[in-house]
Amino acid sequence: MDALSFHFLLALTICREKEPSSGVDISVAKISFDKYKDIFICLFYDVNKRTLSQGDADMSVPSVSFEFFPPKTEEGNRTLFETASRLSSLSPEFVSVTYGAGGSTREPTAKAVSELKEKLGFDVAPHLTCVDASKEETLEIVRDYLNQGITKLVTLRGDPRDGVEGVYTPPADGFAYASDLVAGLRDLERLELFVSAYPEVHPGTPSATFDIEVLKRKQDNGASAAITQFFFNNDDFFRYRDRAATAGVTMPIIPGIMVPENIKGVLRFAKACGATVPSSLSSRFAGIEDDEETRRLIATHFTIQQCEQLVTAGVKHFHLYTLNRAESAYAVCHALGLREQLVEAA
Ligand SMILES: Cc1cc2nc3c(=O)[nH]c(=O)nc-3n(C[C@H](O)[C@H](O)[C@H](O)COP(=O)(O)OP(=O)(O)OC[C@H]3O[C@@H](n4cnc5c(N)ncnc54)[C@H](O)[C@@H]3O)c2cc1C
Repeated sequence: MDALSFHFLLALTICREKEPSSGVDISVAKISFDKYKDIFICLFYDVNKRTLSQGDADMSVPSVSFEFFPPKTEEGNRTLFETASRLSSLSPEFVSVTYGAGGSTREPTAKAVSELKEKLGFDVAPHLTCVDASKEETLEIVRDYLNQGITKLVTLRGDPRDGVEGVYTPPADGFAYASDLVAGLRDLERLELFVSAYPEVHPGTPSATFDIEVLKRKQDNGASAAITQFFFNNDDFFRYRDRAATAGVTMPIIPGIMVPENIKGVLRFAKACGATVPSSLSSRFAGIEDDEETRRLIATHFTIQQCEQLVTAGVKHFHLYTLNRAESAYAVCHALGLREQLVEAA
């Protein structure tokens, strides 16, 4: 079967799911296909292009890591494990688990971390914040992780309990900033420390220059790599990477990638953390607020293009903010050339 017929059949299948009334009647299905063809063509063109260009040196297949959040309910727990199981077939380098604002998810984070490690065999990097905690409390958590064989941590200052806009007061007996936390952990052997980075600057920083100085300080204190806040304009990332390199930052700066399928949530979160959502992106979702599937298709297509441009510019690793959903993260990885690892029979 040629590529066009394959895509047409795939499109028909999706049309039937989307509009069951089209049944198997090819002419009705064709109308449905015409209705959604822009999305299909964009999406499948990209997937196909990737397959065809796999030999190109500038299109090498990147590696990936996935970020999850600790679920609060049994149902959330099931969703996390279904998602993580599906994504595990793509052999991520590691997965990370967030830590609630103000250290509010200490137990759920620790539980998700040990289950992802023990049940699914992931290399897990727990997030750890030092806000509202004494040095001893923070170090105790790290020692517990070390005892479980965890060797990677995403080390952060964190936000106050009332969120990023709350007033931050360094704890009297704790680590004041992420760079202090990194310095406090660097003597613990075996630890690989990831830190945050902000292509559009951290909302609380006095200047972009200071933000880069903070990143350099984290590197000097022992960080191995930085993961960025999400961004949608790659030029922000390129500019930031250049400024960091000029300031002597040599550790990898890993793009944090958010597939913007829940555009409402993304707009809200972006406002709080100082990221920009270009109107050329947000306008693509106008009028389809209640159509989850189409939002996902459009968002996935956007992210595939975003990542392809980053790969062309030398990015070798992506950190995907999955929000505990597998579909779009899986599609992005597949389009970038990551494939399920088949276990060979002995
Ligand atoms: C990849 C990633 C993952 C994240 N995961 C979580 C998570 O799991 N849980 C959570 O609660 N939050 C998380 N966050 C959000 C993060 O906690 C907030 O953005 C927080 O406001 C800053 O944490 P930080 O580690 O970036 O802080 P820092 O790098 O310490 O910087 C925080 C602010 O303080 C300033 N600053 C730094 N050092 C000094 C100094 N010596 N003197 C004066 N000012 C200074 C900086 O300019 C900046 O404005 C994450 C962010 C990213 C990018």
